[in-house]
Amino acid sequence: MDLLEIAVAAPLENTLTYRLPPNLLNTELCQEPLVGRRVLVPLGRRKVTGYVLATGMEDSKEFKIKNISEILDAAPLFPENLIPLFRWISEYYHYPIGEVIKSALPGGLTPKSARQLQAGSASGEKLQDILRSIALGTGEGKDHRDVESYLLKLSQNGKLTSAETKEIFKSKKVKKYIDSLVADGVLEMHESVSGGTSKEKHEICYSLTAEPAGLEGLPGSGKDAISIYRARLNRQNNLSLGVAEAKTMYYLELLRGNSEKGAVPRKELLASYSGAGKQLQSLIASGMVVEERRRVFRSPLGEQLEFFPAPEVLTEEQQAALAEIVPAVEKGGYSPFLLHGVTGSGKTEVYLQATAVTLSLGKSVLVIVPEIALATQLETHFISRFGENVVLLHSGLTAGEKFDQWSLVVSGEARIVIGARSAIFAPFKDLGLIVVDEEHDGGLKQDDKLRYNGRDLAVVRARQQQCTVLLASATPSVVSYYNAQIGKYNLLTMKNRVGNRPLPKVNIIDLRQKARGGKKSIFRPPLQKALVDNLERGKQSVIFINRRGFSVNVICQECGTPVECVDCHVSLTLHRSKQQLLCHYCGYSVHERTVCENCSSTSMVPVGFGTERVEEELRALVPEARIARLDADTAFDRKVFLETLKKTRAGEIDILVGTQMVAKGHHFPGVTLVGVVWADAGLSIPDYRAAERTFQLVTQVTGRAGRGDDPGEVYIQTMRPDHYALLYARGHRYEELVERELELRRNPKFPPYVRMVAIHIHGESEDRVVDSAMKVAQVCKALLQQPLPGSSAQGSRDANNTLGSAEVLGPAPSPIDRVKKKYRWQVMIKTESLNILHGICNYIHQHQNELAARDCRLLLDVDPENMM
Ligand code: ADP
Ligand code: ZN
Ligand code: ZN
Repeated sequence: MDLLEIAVAAPLENTLTYRLPPNLLNTELCQEPLVGRRVLVPLGRRKVTGYVLATGMEDSKEFKIKNISEILDAAPLFPENLIPLFRWISEYYHYPIGEVIKSALPGGLTPKSARQLQAGSASGEKLQDILRSIALGTGEGKDHRDVESYLLKLSQNGKLTSAETKEIFKSKKVKKYIDSLVADGVLEMHESVSGGTSKEKHEICYSLTAEPAGLEGLPGSGKDAISIYRARLNRQNNLSLGVAEAKTMYYLELLRGNSEKGAVPRKELLASYSGAGKQLQSLIASGMVVEERRRVFRSPLGEQLEFFPAPEVLTEEQQAALAEIVPAVEKGGYSPFLLHGVTGSGKTEVYLQATAVTLSLGKSVLVIVPEIALATQLETHFISRFGENVVLLHSGLTAGEKFDQWSLVVSGEARIVIGARSAIFAPFKDLGLIVVDEEHDGGLKQDDKLRYNGRDLAVVRARQQQCTVLLASATPSVVSYYNAQIGKYNLLTMKNRVGNRPLPKVNIIDLRQKARGGKKSIFRPPLQKALVDNLERGKQSVIFINRRGFSVNVICQECGTPVECVDCHVSLTLHRSKQQLLCHYCGYSVHERTVCENCSSTSMVPVGFGTERVEEELRALVPEARIARLDADTAFDRKVFLETLKKTRAGEIDILVGTQMVAKGHHFPGVTLVGVVWADAGLSIPDYRAAERTFQLVTQVTGRAGRGDDPGEVYIQTMRPDHYALLYARGHRYEELVERELELRRNPKFPPYVRMVAIHIHGESEDRVVDSAMKVAQVCKALLQQPLPGSSAQGSRDANNTLGSAEVLGPAPSPIDRVKKKYRWQVMIKTESLNILHGICNYIHQHQNELAARDCRLLLDVDPENMM
């Protein structure tokens, strides 16, 4: 019982065993289950955060088992049922288990110890001697000039910071010397724990002990209210309260009316009557008032939300979908669905109804969305229907808010979580339903550190916890649709919009045809005319462009050289409103008036266009229109962002310009016209999903039109009017797109017919990156020549490094081959066999230090989304 399995928040492959020492074992802290709590454990010379995964481990004869230093939580932070998910993720994505858990939990919960060098308690003189001899360059000091500044600081401040301490130990020679000073007692090493910044928030509240006798309500708020109140209070209770005391009581009573439980936060009381502070002590002493400390939950729902009533009747298709989902939820057990519902078919209502059923069974619901923007919209619907049961989890929250929301889920107070991909870790004990909205969206994939796909994890978690999972989209990913075709998911289809509204009519405009005469405009005549007409009819329009900023890049008019980022191999984008050229990868910026690096010319011109430029041209085209822009630059401020969405819904905006932010999910009933400025921007990206993505984006943005009473119309401008992705999007022919894509991905093979993993090699030295990449590719190829341990799927070999079913591509520079000063190369593996894939990944992961040069980083991306 006292031996625990601990995952430490450090890059270790395996979990470790620690002992719970008797002094901790017998404390009150150990009443609650230990699994799911954080502890502080020794690791090497430090102390780090660990997570308890199991109790009752076997004793080991080989290793000395160390003691746990401290138990950090009074109750579990996550339920036991999440542990299999953590283990699965660690194995599948080849990521250390402790770090998986660390990234699953809200931030600021990972304290660890750091060492700090201090001056010894009785060493003042000795330190001065050493400093003197360094200054003179004689005796002991003559070899130790390099530590002078540190020793000086030690003698002045008595200690170094932990960062300085770390720095000083970097050099072997210095370390040896400092160690000897520690041994002599001149210096001392101390350990301090820091980093656990997220804490429960409490506030001090006051309430009245008992109803003061005979007081029926407050005597109004007139001028004499307080003196009337005081007289009554004193007379009926036999007291002799002073004016200030009575006034304090008065405000306590007044304010407790508004607060549940009758307790008034100190802050609130003092805001109403600043003199109350002095009176409270005597009122407490006389037993009239009690003080208590109460936990408060910081709420991210600052703004007043709109209310959406439930519809009176469901559409036939909604009923049909629910007729399959509801029994599955009621029955329990793993039950995966893919809901393909066209834009405006009322998918949200399906989620809401399925949620109501799940809650009625006493189970919880998790809703995952690709973007915070969509969380906001769904949240409004869910709160309208389910009120305080709803909790939000996403990156837009502060660490404190996230911790509080998390705690509400752990305690079972919140039964519905809506959030971005990381919400997949929501600590529910009793999940009944997981919904993934816009399941095709790349935003569900995390492309940093722990690289996971929230949609895939939803399916894994549903299987582990035996519940229903509903993946939904108007344009499901080809892979998910294939899974439905082969029976892995149950397919549900909603082909019609609510109220039988027609899908919008889509027109394609060929950009290759030169605009005749006149000034060249971003908007071709048919789109211009449609915009003007729509405005005259008092209708709203959405204009979509896949790029923020003013231009795509800026080139020299003399020699054609584009302005590039100094740290990344990408061209800079002009942001005219900031007068800057900006790197979208690292944020590097220069003034817009820059000089050609090649020929020093000053005539630089913007080419291509982004949201800013589109907005500018729109203002010139229709000066009377109310125009708003939504992109990463304007949505930076969440308030502004929410305001713009609200205004658009309310019809206070005539034309909304934006990036994919305007394309996804939103329901703007007044929008009848959608224009896509340049639809094929994404088609030339070196990614096997370029066509799929373009189709999805165009369909999604198209789907914003005609959701209200009036039919919608769409204009798509493109240089490739014959491309199948656009033709299928025009005809709303989703199934045909899938068929075409599946055909193309059979040869050469791409998902869903193979699994892929991208091995990235990043580093500042180009030579060493290339070297490491070569080594990795070589090892991968060599591994395929020999039977892999545990791999069953062995095919015959042929000349192309394939083992029947595995293929190594590369090494090659990544499409964007330098970002933030780092060169980037990659090796891709494609295989039908998960065994082979994981066999190779395991080997690479375990041997990364030999394969990658010291200053290179090796990253594994299983099922990569982003090929850049
Ligand atoms: P989707 O997510 O499928 O694009 P939404 O869920 O946003 O579509 O629904 C589109 C609109 O139809 C919303 O305004 C929603 O309130 C409304 N709606 C949904 N179901 C019904 C129904 N059964 N009756 C009337 N209106 C409905
Ligand atoms: Zn030039
Ligand atoms: Zn850059």
